[in-house]
Amino acid sequence: MAGRIESTDQLRKVLETRGLLSVVKRLDMKDRADNQAYRKRLEGKYRSRKAKKPVCAYCGDHDRSLYVSHIEPVEIGGPTTENNLVLLCKSCHGAFDKGAVSISEMKKIAERWTCRRRRSLEESSSVPEMTKPPAALRKFVCDIRKMERERSGQAGVRQIATRLRDTGLKKAHRTYLGILQAEMIRRGAGRKAIDKAMNKLETVPLSEVPPECRGYYCYERGYLLRLAGRHNQACCWMKQGAREARRRTGAHRAGVDYVAASVNVILCEVASQSRITPQKAKGLLRRIDQLASVARKNGGYWGGRWELNCAVQTLQVHIRADHKRGSWKALNKMVKTFEGYDATTGWGEADRQTISLLRGVVHARFHRNCAELADGVRLLARSFMSRIKDNRQKPEGIRDVGIELARALARYTRGDAERIRVARQLEDVITKVVDGTSVLWPQRDV
Ligand SMILES: [Zn+2]
Repeated sequence: MAGRIESTDQLRKVLETRGLLSVVKRLDMKDRADNQAYRKRLEGKYRSRKAKKPVCAYCGDHDRSLYVSHIEPVEIGGPTTENNLVLLCKSCHGAFDKGAVSISEMKKIAERWTCRRRRSLEESSSVPEMTKPPAALRKFVCDIRKMERERSGQAGVRQIATRLRDTGLKKAHRTYLGILQAEMIRRGAGRKAIDKAMNKLETVPLSEVPPECRGYYCYERGYLLRLAGRHNQACCWMKQGAREARRRTGAHRAGVDYVAASVNVILCEVASQSRITPQKAKGLLRRIDQLASVARKNGGYWGGRWELNCAVQTLQVHIRADHKRGSWKALNKMVKTFEGYDATTGWGEADRQTISLLRGVVHARFHRNCAELADGVRLLARSFMSRIKDNRQKPEGIRDVGIELARALARYTRGDAERIRVARQLEDVITKVVDGTSVLWPQRDV
């Protein structure tokens, strides 16, 4: 097969021609739960006292159609059993999916159901931003970020371009918008987006960046270099970003942007090494712990996000160092952290994917019995299928899940000739997916 694979479309085509896609899809299938039986039981459980009708477990409405919903999502390993299911109306289910209420809160609600009508889940509060814009730009930046969340980021890029044409714009505001524009561009998929964003930032040297934008500028440059696989250079920019963040707050009051830059320093260090020794792992874990406690102290949405991020990095270090017990422990802690969050304390849309991947990795690599290995294969297959559905996913995720799935499958062939073929060919294809950021399967610095 010819060289590198640059896009998800191309990858899908290669997988299809080799007959791999249908096999992976079949691995993802599992026994469908008998929805009707669960529905009956839940309808008996959640019933309004007055109308004697089944109601939404959260808002108590009985007029709307009700759905049997998982509390702990299937992607992160939630089982289809009665105590992990709840009856919700469409709007409460949608809001729960967006993190309006945490998983652990929903567990409590499902357990001790009282018929009291609660606040509608749709009224969840807005999400604060880490990189605070200058006051004069706050409303504009808020709108741009909202467009990004609604998946029209490229329209946001055009709006920023229009705004930048205003010749009366202050220098600091102009620089801020330029960095924001680069950030929005790099969120578009593919290597081209990364190069384009990098070009934008490189036109402004650091010496010309006003002090209030410097932390943001360094972080973005470092992030782009990390995406491009230039880990050593990325590390330098992230270190500079951490210094800028410290300079702004003073050494004793480190904030979340300090944590963000420092965690990225660690990521670059891990990604650039082919092997993590036990001693190295110990040092990294200690540093991550310190950063997690800074994030926790900061609290709020971004404090929560970075606390979870630290839990993710802890697990990745254990995995890379081949710690079996440490990995299981870190996995449970990470899932617990996530389950405690809602949209105001750190919940994020992409987390389920991260957890699904890492849970699959731990089950497949460190399984203690055959069922855990089977679980790992299923989780990874599902995760892989969801990532190659469209072109929104970064290659790092696709590559990580793909290689891990191929290796898990190789352990799980049970002599089945087709599985052996699929495991080999899948690994062969996936290693050709171009990626520079992977922590789990690092490549040489490019
Ligand atoms: Zn409801």
